[in-house]
Amino acid sequence: SSHDFKQINKYLYEIPRSFRADMRVPARFYADSELQKAIQGDRSLEQLVNTATLPGIVKYALAMPDMHQGYGFPIGGVVATQLPDGIISPGGVGYDINCGVRLLATQLEKEEAAPYLEDLASALYANCPSGLGKGGHIKLKPGELDLLVVKGAKWALKRGYATESDLERTEEGGCLEGADPGKVSDRAKNRGQDQVGTLGSGNHFIEIDMVDRIFDEPVATRMGIFHNQVTVQIHSGSRGFGHQVCSDYVKRLQKTIQQYGFSLPDRELVCAPLSSPEGQDYLAAMNAAANYAFVNRQLLTYHIRRSFEQVLAGKVKNHHVYQVYDIAHNMARIEEHEVDGRRIKVCVHRKGATRAFGPGSSLLPGIYRDIGQPVLVPGSMGTASWVLVGTEGSMTQTFGSICHGAGRVISRSKAKKAVRGAKLREELEACGIHVRVSSMSGLAEEAPSAYKDVDRVIEVVHGAGIAKKVARLIPLAVIKG
Ligand code: 5GP
Ligand code: MN
Ligand code: MN
Repeated sequence: SSHDFKQINKYLYEIPRSFRADMRVPARFYADSELQKAIQGDRSLEQLVNTATLPGIVKYALAMPDMHQGYGFPIGGVVATQLPDGIISPGGVGYDINCGVRLLATQLEKEEAAPYLEDLASALYANCPSGLGKGGHIKLKPGELDLLVVKGAKWALKRGYATESDLERTEEGGCLEGADPGKVSDRAKNRGQDQVGTLGSGNHFIEIDMVDRIFDEPVATRMGIFHNQVTVQIHSGSRGFGHQVCSDYVKRLQKTIQQYGFSLPDRELVCAPLSSPEGQDYLAAMNAAANYAFVNRQLLTYHIRRSFEQVLAGKVKNHHVYQVYDIAHNMARIEEHEVDGRRIKVCVHRKGATRAFGPGSSLLPGIYRDIGQPVLVPGSMGTASWVLVGTEGSMTQTFGSICHGAGRVISRSKAKKAVRGAKLREELEACGIHVRVSSMSGLAEEAPSAYKDVDRVIEVVHGAGIAKKVARLIPLAVIKG
C-alpha cells in the first residue's frame, strides 16, 4: 500500500529495507504522483522489492517510471550486483536479449516526404520481413552464424550491410566481447539461422517519425537532428535466438540454484554467481545473443535504406539515411561505477531500461563523448517518442540508466479484449498515420491506450536529472510485426 514507501523528492520514491526482512538494500522507483498510482495496478512494486533481496546487490534496487510487471524482475528495472560473487540472472535481462532501439535520420523535411509516405510504408513492409517466426531475406551459410554472433556489427560491416559510421553510432560498436557460440544450444542456433534481419511480432516496429520539437538545439545538431525532419525508428531484438538462450539458461540455472544456498522469494529470479561456471556461461551466451540483435537491427537498417532508395531515388534531392544511435534495453553489462566513494566492478542488469551515460564517459564514441550518450525512448504508434541524453545525475543515481519506453498500463491480453485492431487502424489512419501490420490482434495489443503517457514518463526522468530532453518525435507511418 502507499504507506509502505516514502517520497524522497518530487520524482523519486523509496521502500526502506525495514519493509521486508529479506531485503539487502532499499528499493527506489522514479515516478510522479500519477504514475505512482498506475504502478500499483500490477505486481511490479512487489517484484522490485524481490530484486532488492538478490545476493551481491549494491546501493538500491531501482525501477524507472515506465515500470510494469515482468518475468521475475519488473520491466523498467535496474539491478547492479558486485563482482566477483554477485549474481547474474537471465530474468534480469529478459527473454528478448538486447531488444533495443535504433534511430535513423534523413535530410528530408516532412513536407518533402509527405507525397511518398504511403509508398514508403508499403516498401518498408515489403522489404523488412515481419510477423511471428518469419524468416529473412539474408541467408547464412552453415557455420556463419557462429562467426556472426562473435563479430556482431563487424560481421555486417564486412558483408557490406553497414558503414563505419553506423558502427560508431551503435552502443559498444555493435560488438560485445566475450560472446561464445559454444555456450549456445543448437536449438537456439536453429531458431536464429534464418531470422536475422527480421522484425518479429507484436511490440516490434519500424516507424517513420517527424521531429516535432527540439529542446536542446546544440545537442540535437550534433546528433544530426532538426525540427520537421523525417526520421526512422527500429525496435527489435534477438528474435528466436535470444529467446531460446534465455529459456535454456533459466532451466539450467534452476538446477544449480540450490548448490549456492540462495533462497529467493520468487522462482523467476533464478540466478547464479557471476564467478560460477553457470554464470560465466550465461554471460557468454547472452553476449552472443546481444551481438545477434545488433546485426538484426543493422540488417533491418540495410532494408530500410533499400526501401528509401526504391521509393525516393530521383524524386527528392537527398534520400540518404544515416544513423543517429542504437541502444540496448534488455542487457546485463559489467561496468565500473562509484558506490559509496569507491569505484567498483558491477554487473548492471537493465531490463526494459537503457544505458544513459553522462558526458565524458570513455565508453562513448568521440562524436558524442562531450554531450553524453543519446537515449532513445519510444512511446507508442499513436503518441510521441523521445530522444534524450544521459547526464552526470544518471551516473550518481541509477548506474547510468533510464527508462526504455512509456511502459504498459494494461496487459496484452486485456488490450486485446478492449481494443479492436481494425478499428484502431482506422483511427490511426484518420490521424494521418500510415499503418502496415501483419496481425490485427497484434496491433490491438499495442494500442496507444495500453501504454502510459510517454510525455509524463519523460518529464520524470528529465525532472529527476537522470536524462535531458533533446527532441520529441511524432509518428507518420508504422510497420508492425
Ligand atoms: P518493449 O520493449 O517493452 O516491448 O517496448 C518498449 C516500448 O516501446 C514500450 O514501452 C512502448 O512505450 C513503446 N512502443 C510499443 N509499440 C510502439 C510503437 O508502435 N511505436 C512507438 N513509437 N513506440 C512503441
Ligand atoms: Mn523485444
Ligand atoms: Mn523492446
